[in-house]
Amino acid sequence: MAALFVVMIRGVSLLLLDDLIREAKLKTSNTRYESKAARNAFYQNQTWRNKRKAILKRDNNECQVTKSIGQVSTDKLIVHHIKPLEYFPELSMDDSNLITVSHANHNIIHGLKVAKFNDEWW
Ligand SMILES: [Zn+2]
Repeated sequence: MAALFVVMIRGVSLLLLDDLIREAKLKTSNTRYESKAARNAFYQNQTWRNKRKAILKRDNNECQVTKSIGQVSTDKLIVHHIKPLEYFPELSMDDSNLITVSHANHNIIHGLKVAKFNDEWW
């Protein structure tokens, strides 16, 4: 099922992950973060932690999806890669590819039915 769920933030559409992966599969290069271990190493790196803090500050420590509907959520914030790390490593630290979202909205973006933590949490 193609994603029908689209939220526009800063002129960027946040699509369900399936659509981004489909788009990404058009690319054949860059498999640097394909493994879970490689992604974990990325998220544990101080450079990412600093970037994450900067994005949270830029987004005023609130969920940008919630903000887009005129409400405020500061609960369990995640800095999400709009285009996934594993397929777009060149955008891993790009401000325009990063956005602060609540845990609940993050699950929706990723099409998760059950709340769970993932490695973008930190
Ligand atoms: Zn995410």
